[in-house]
Amino acid sequence: MQGASESADLWRLTVQHSPIGMALVGVDGRPLMVNRALCDMLGYDEPQLARMGFPEFTHPDDVDADVALFGRTLAGEIDSYRLRKRYLHADGRIVWGDLSVALVRHADGEPQHFIAQLLDVTEQQEHQERLKAAKADADRERQTLEAIFETVNVGLLLIGSDGRYERMNRRHLETMNLPFPDGHEGSAGQLGHVYYLDGKTLMGKEDMPSYRAAQGEEFDDYRYWVGDDPVTRAAFSTSARQMRGPSGERIGAALAYQEITDLMRAMQVKDEFVSSVSHELRTPLTSVLGFLEILCDDEEIPPGAQAQLRVVQRNAVRLQSLLSDLLQVGQDVEGGLQLRRTDVDLARLVRYAVEAARPQADKRRVSIAVDVPDDLRLSVDEQRIRQVVDNLVSNAVKYTGDGGSVTVVLRRDSEGVVLEVSDTGIGIAPDEVDQVFTRFFRGGRALELHIPGTGLGLDIVSSIVAAHGGAVSLESELGRGSTFRVTLPFSGL
Ligand code: ADP
Repeated sequence: MQGASESADLWRLTVQHSPIGMALVGVDGRPLMVNRALCDMLGYDEPQLARMGFPEFTHPDDVDADVALFGRTLAGEIDSYRLRKRYLHADGRIVWGDLSVALVRHADGEPQHFIAQLLDVTEQQEHQERLKAAKADADRERQTLEAIFETVNVGLLLIGSDGRYERMNRRHLETMNLPFPDGHEGSAGQLGHVYYLDGKTLMGKEDMPSYRAAQGEEFDDYRYWVGDDPVTRAAFSTSARQMRGPSGERIGAALAYQEITDLMRAMQVKDEFVSSVSHELRTPLTSVLGFLEILCDDEEIPPGAQAQLRVVQRNAVRLQSLLSDLLQVGQDVEGGLQLRRTDVDLARLVRYAVEAARPQADKRRVSIAVDVPDDLRLSVDEQRIRQVVDNLVSNAVKYTGDGGSVTVVLRRDSEGVVLEVSDTGIGIAPDEVDQVFTRFFRGGRALELHIPGTGLGLDIVSSIVAAHGGAVSLESELGRGSTFRVTLPFSGL
């Protein structure tokens, strides 16, 4: 007897201190005995729980399932059951429990009581729910991206960090045949019928967009032609972005290929039109200027008419200068500028250009300071470089208000000759700085102030400087002024 009571005490002690919630439940559903872990889990003390039936601290939505299983066990259909269900904690919050219930019967088979064990799985359940929600979010996101990937009218290509093609959309697949009629091996940099913008030179491997992206470069609006046949050729504008893993390591690149054939053809037509119109206008205008000169020198023409003729002449000269700008742009389009390099004293050239701009500057009460060495020689096309200086200085004067100042500096540095034209004028908005070198572009502020111009000057400047192997840069602040910096390399010497 002693042994039996000892083991009952031991059992009671084990149950009381078990970390798992445990209860003896009567056949009427009322707890006969509950342990500490169960009290802690549900927030009631033992006497409180003993007064309650389990449906009272079960979440209403889970009562039926539990009652049904309880009944089936009592009816002898099953011996035990297991159920994951929600409990209501005394403070109102929900506690998830993993419940195991077994029925103990008397020797005659009469139900005696239930033994219930309850494991608190709230954290696990919440974790699972969060995981499920995150997975649903990720699935939705993936489906959205998938739909976008396949429906956009832009070719999309993903390459791995080793340059292998990982994925492309239908649109890109459709356009691959033009540059690679014999198929593509799926690796960045494969050569094909890809041409630079001149439409003649085959693109080298280092310049292929996929190769550049595989090397870690990012770029926008990279334009080129693809296709062997010039008639059916297509133009593309490509952008690339690098993709990085959680610790910033490169995991590949994404490329977007947009077809811009129509745009490029329209631009070609516009350029050809501008070029042919300016050619056609040049001959009659030369004749007009020639006769005007004769007339202006004719002493028989009365002074009043002479003055009017001078106005006509001034405007015809202005027309001629506009036409020469347009012609120059045309030449650029037709296949690059032909330079006639000679050994030129740039210091003298700059001084002359500034003197030529002085009357206009005086009229606008703009002062011009010049800082040039006595002599600075470089092999350049004198006429073209003079055009560069004239354009920059006349812009500086034109876009600087009353009382402002312009500074022209010429110096030598380690890489070449540097020309800086600074002004204290209207300045250029940050989002326009990259556009001012675009043909026909005119700044918003210049338009607001009705300052006349064609938007050709800086396009001409940049193409002349590029033909010399140099570069133009610009720093500007709206309302404070601008500095244009031209660098011409020594290699031309
Ligand atoms: P244009 O002067 O005939 O408009 P440009 O190609 O020379 O054409 O210049 C393009 C635009 O750049 C101008 O319309 C003007 O908005 C801006 N710009 C050029 N030079 C300056 C300058 N020194 N200061 C402020 N804005 C300038």
